[in-house]
Amino acid sequence: MESSTTEESAVERLDVVAVAPHPDDLEISCGGTLAKLVQQGYRVGIFDLTTGEPTPRGDEKTRREEAEQARQHLNVPVRINVGLPNRVLMDSPENRFRLATELRRYRPKVLITMAGRTPAASPDHHQGHLLAEASRFYSQLTKWDDRFAGTGPYRVPQLVYATVPFDAEVRHWHSTFVVDISDVFDKKWAAIEAYKSQFDDNRLAMVKHFITGHNISVGASCGFAYGELFALPHPVGSQDFMTTVMGRKGSIAPVALPGQEHLPMG
Ligand SMILES: [Zn+2]
Repeated sequence: MESSTTEESAVERLDVVAVAPHPDDLEISCGGTLAKLVQQGYRVGIFDLTTGEPTPRGDEKTRREEAEQARQHLNVPVRINVGLPNRVLMDSPENRFRLATELRRYRPKVLITMAGRTPAASPDHHQGHLLAEASRFYSQLTKWDDRFAGTGPYRVPQLVYATVPFDAEVRHWHSTFVVDISDVFDKKWAAIEAYKSQFDDNRLAMVKHFITGHNISVGASCGFAYGELFALPHPVGSQDFMTTVMGRKGSIAPVALPGQEHLPMG
């Protein structure tokens, strides 16, 4: 409606929102896929739950600039900071209201959350996973608009997990799929490299070693040079056996058969 000037119409809807606690989390877990989604014409947003500060070598201004550089490398049009506290991030009702308010503003079709438990790294990661799931549920609730800055109820249709490479658990997800990021791996790496305050040269070399190896290993299982692993909280529903199994544009199934263009790994 042209005449509408409500707050909701002032924010352009997003197709996909990816959420994680710290700037750099999403670049590492699913940066290639975010860049690829943008290339495919989808409107993508990154929601950083916190600034990521304090850290030993960073500060708020530097982290903001690095996150902006990373955004430009991925070409993602929207990146917001939800403004929750780093290091003490919790899946609490108040924090759910804050994230759900942004979901109600941007009304994505798909919510990606980084998922997994990282006992050797920040506990924020696991809390961010719980917070994203709970906020997706809260986002649809009626008669509570005052808790969501006056925004109206909105149900995010799909939830997708971006798996973390060093999860403490071996997960038996209902379903998983691998996105071929071979043609955008350079963008993913450029976005990670932007976080110079977090990765000095030694650390960056280690991160590159692990991320490259991880994405190669994950990709190889589906016949791709580089891949990112995602999971769903439910089995894949299918109307068409052959489309699901053989794949086509828009399908989650691999379109490159292992062994044709790449080593047969599975
Ligand atoms: Zn993190």
